[in-house]
Amino acid sequence: MFPAQPSPDSGMREDRSKTNSDPGAVAPTAFPLLLTRLEDHVKEAGITQNAVCDGAVRSYLAAIQDPGIDTLAMPALGILSNHIDAAMHACSLMAPGASVSSYASMVTSKATNTYASATNVAADEHLVAQVGLAVRARFDPYVVACERQLYLNHADVPADLKVLIQNHAMGSVKDPLVEAAEQILQAAHTPADPTNAEKAALVQALEALPVVQAMYNGKLAVGAGAEGGSLPTIVVTAACKAQKHFGKYADQFFKNAPTGMVIYAALVQPSRRPPARHVSNIEVTEDTVEPGRFWLGTRVTQYRANAARVGNKVRLSVMDDVSTVVHEIGHQVEFYLPAVEWMRLHQIIRMRMVGAQLVNIYPKSEKAEPAFDVSAMPAFEAYYTNPDAQRSGKYYPAKLYVSGDTELLSMTVQFFSRPDTATLMIQRDPVLAATVLRAIRPDDFTNFPANLLALLPT
Ligand SMILES: [Zn+2]
Repeated sequence: MFPAQPSPDSGMREDRSKTNSDPGAVAPTAFPLLLTRLEDHVKEAGITQNAVCDGAVRSYLAAIQDPGIDTLAMPALGILSNHIDAAMHACSLMAPGASVSSYASMVTSKATNTYASATNVAADEHLVAQVGLAVRARFDPYVVACERQLYLNHADVPADLKVLIQNHAMGSVKDPLVEAAEQILQAAHTPADPTNAEKAALVQALEALPVVQAMYNGKLAVGAGAEGGSLPTIVVTAACKAQKHFGKYADQFFKNAPTGMVIYAALVQPSRRPPARHVSNIEVTEDTVEPGRFWLGTRVTQYRANAARVGNKVRLSVMDDVSTVVHEIGHQVEFYLPAVEWMRLHQIIRMRMVGAQLVNIYPKSEKAEPAFDVSAMPAFEAYYTNPDAQRSGKYYPAKLYVSGDTELLSMTVQFFSRPDTATLMIQRDPVLAATVLRAIRPDDFTNFPANLLALLPT
């Protein structure tokens, strides 16, 4: 069954974030969101706050054979590299408990100073920034990929980012990654609300895409257009198998879960799926079973599905439906999206923000769940009809996790997974639909009309 209310996930992202996500707090800007994301990736790559050690440094050195750093006209890259290695070693001894960002800045300053004194060059801001980039590149190939995308002359980098990069190369002071993040999210780069005619043209162009036709006629579920690649496996916990109601739902679940995976494969092109080592595995987790009233039978409370980055796990209940499977795998997709696409999702939210403070999605429930204060989410509000569900249907996609991730991509791919909700999504909110589709299927947008792309965040 499709949930009567948007299905809430539990907050599995335990971390020490710089983003304050309490309802009532001021909504965070691009900088803490992006920094938190990069730090999460660095942390996940094994460089934890307490484990900054030579071993980690060496393994990531091995992983960055193609970092693209040399195309930044780094002076004497080889010598600099040696100084960074030496600085990392020294700093790892000096600061075993340092946060990743303070560790990185410590390494940057040490490497800059030793490089500058060894080569008799002045440690100017330009050099500091370049060393900073090289230091970060030591941490994780994903971080390298993020940064390359933002810094280098890559086809996906928007024109305004390229200008920033050029300015940076001429000696701007601010970290261009931060500046790029800010600029991407600035209102000046936000497209205006489309007119009705533009909206209709966008809907028409989307409906001409084979993937959208497959959504409409239910063909995603048979894998129309799906390309190969690693897909999740399914594990059922022993405690779950032991529950009495498991047998009743198991047959349906073992149809639902593979169907969800097929739909995911049909929706997300391989280059936008998580890297093979981070394919999320589905763990079917026990539900809560309590005695019923007057000792008559039992009461089953369905396990609240969630996606946990640690261990690449998507946890589901045996009672979950196809769209929940697609939704939860969507969280893992979001985490590994290129930074630029991820920021475009945030820009959609920013385009619709009416208040500067975070709001509570479920004011009536005990635990507060924060979201950006958006004015509208037309497809979701059209689907959920009772007033409470409509309100949470509007805010839930804009939910903010401390990681900086939201529910926007997951809720949208969940809606893509069924013909009736896909139709609502495409026709009521083509700007969101197109932004998410472009993030997960960039190849579909290489020949998309430029005037329609201009309606999307850039
Ligand atoms: Zn979710």
